[in-house]
Parts: sequence; C-alpha cells; structure tokens
Amino acid sequence: MRRELAAAARDLAAYIKAQDENLAEAAPGSSVVKRVSRPSPAAPPVPTAAEPEVKPSAMTHKKPADMDALAEQVKACRKCGLGHARLNAVFGVGTYKAKVVFVGEGPGFQEDHKGEPFVGRSGQLLDKILETVLGLKRSEVYIANIVKCHPMKNPETPEAHGNDRPPTPEEISACRPYLDEQLRAIKPLCIVTLGSVATKVLLGTDKGISLVRGRAYDYPVELFGPGHPIKVIPTYHPAALLRNPNLKRDTWEDMKLLKSFLETSKIG
Ligand code: SF4
Repeated sequence: MRRELAAAARDLAAYIKAQDENLAEAAPGSSVVKRVSRPSPAAPPVPTAAEPEVKPSAMTHKKPADMDALAEQVKACRKCGLGHARLNAVFGVGTYKAKVVFVGEGPGFQEDHKGEPFVGRSGQLLDKILETVLGLKRSEVYIANIVKCHPMKNPETPEAHGNDRPPTPEEISACRPYLDEQLRAIKPLCIVTLGSVATKVLLGTDKGISLVRGRAYDYPVELFGPGHPIKVIPTYHPAALLRNPNLKRDTWEDMKLLKSFLETSKIG
C-alpha cells in the first residue's frame, strides 16, 4: 500500500512539473506578475467571477496572454491616424498590482519623446501629489492614458512644441479597448480620471470636470462582472493646476477622498 502511495505521489509531482513547464513556455517574458488560475486537469478552464468572459462589444482585438503582449500590440498599432505620426506609443507605467489607476487623456510632447506617460511638468506635479497626499510613489500605482499616441494639431511636425490637441471621438473609440484590457489585467479598486476628457470618456458624461469632481462614482463598465465594481474619482488634470493654482485645493480634497478609500476600501 505504502509503495502504491509513493508511486502515485511521484506521478502527481511529474504531472505538476509538466504543467509548470507548459505555462512557462506559453508566457515568454513572464517576469510580469500575472493573475492566472491553473485549470484542473480534468476540466477545461471556466471564467470565474474574478476573470469574467470579455464582452465582445468591449474588445476588438485578441486578448493577449499578459501585459507585455498587449504593450507589443500597442507599439505596432496603426488602428487610427495617431499611430502614423507618433514618435513612441505610450502604453502605461507602474505596477500591475496597483489598487489605483490614474488615467489622463493622451500623451503630449514629452511623453511622445520618452514613451512614458506624465513625464513633463504635469508629471512632476502628479508625482508630488502622489507622495505628499497619498504617500505613494509612481511605482506603486499605475498611470495610463485614454489614447496611447500623441494627438497633434500638425502631425507633420512631431518635434514642434505647442502642437497638442485633445483626441477625437474616433481616436478614442479606436484606442479604448487597450485601456479596458489594462484595467482587466490590473483589477484596480479605483480609477482617478485626470481632467475633463478622461472623465467624460470613462464616466460617459458630458459634464465638465468642475461639475463632477468631489465625489466617487461606480465605473459604468462591468469589467470583472457583477459584484466587482470599480470606483471612479474624477479630479483636475495636473496641467490645469499648473495653469490655475487655485484648483489645487479641490484636487487635494479629491486626493484625500482617494486616500480614505484606499485605507478603508470604502467611500462614505
Ligand atoms: S492611438 Fe491607440 S488606436 Fe490609435 S494608433 Fe495609437 S495605439 Fe492604436
């Protein structure tokens, strides 16, 4: 009997090792933290509440194995005209374990040159807000944009300053699936929308930021299925604070609301 049990244990160990090797081969560059549930050998994988089936209307491209694969898709993307003029696609930055994702409207001049969101003066101010109000570093949150390529007034002159413009509705709808896919992978508790464009897109409202900020909303898209809401806290874009320092007080209030939510996971 003891010998049979030992043989069964050896078989099980060999099976698990083979499954681990299969997973490693299927996920090259898997240094990224992935939330993958290992399927039972007896049954095909079934979507769980935490990893729901993706609604076809929300996705127009194949779901990638991980964020690295998605970043590669974005790098090669030419789904809208912005892809032809950009210097660099700006995917996102931060930890995939973030509880909060900050979303702006799109890359500007500095971001286009560096390939990273919020790296100019606005980015420095965002970093300062993160540290002083939330006690968080950039590496402890995730930062992305609605569109991943620089919307320019004149696409012929990507080296020119003052060439920024907001993304068009067509550009936004072409790029939106990438952001939803990032959110699905990260599964944040909260999204902070930075400025009117991101707020209007993610909340589906036509009201300006000054009318909607100051409270939290449920994200209108059920990315993880029923019972897994994401809160949305709208606030001003850091560039607006640079232009008008009087907006800092309201922004601080919004960040205190976020801090309280992150500490208690509740918004009262
Ligand atoms: S903005 Fe988005 S959809 Fe348009 S080319 Fe860039 S990555 Fe693709």
